[in-house]
Amino acid sequence: MPIDATQPYDDANIFARILRGELPSKTVHEDEHTLAFNDINPLAPTHILVIPKGRYVSWDDFSAKASDEEIASLVRAVGKIAREGGLVQSGYRILANSGLNSGQEVPHLHVHIFAGRPLGPMLAK
Ligand code: AMP
Repeated sequence: MPIDATQPYDDANIFARILRGELPSKTVHEDEHTLAFNDINPLAPTHILVIPKGRYVSWDDFSAKASDEEIASLVRAVGKIAREGGLVQSGYRILANSGLNSGQEVPHLHVHIFAGRPLGPMLAK
């Protein structure tokens, strides 16, 4: 079920549970404000999720309420993961679903990093 990007933060969501260590994940990167781990159901040879550690439902919530430090941390983490993963030369795609029409399923902001094969058209027509 797609989520409403304006809903209040739900501490029971899957990524909140990963952040609390209640569910396992394969960490790719961690710093003070940001965690990145492999997607459980990869759609490309590389499929990584980058999330803020703070309680943000969506891109809307994060861009409105996160500190400059939290925002910089997330953006820099995406670039660092791509560089250190050797993704820059072959290329990669980043994507953040936000709210109902996007199909966002987990109500904690996440940026997908896809790479490892030609990724096709940006959107299905
Ligand atoms: P979205 O549709 O943009 O909300 O993406 C949610 C993503 O979370 C999907 O790609 C799922 O495969 C992924 N996902 C769901 N549960 C887990 C989990 N426990 N660990 C890692 N990724 C997950």
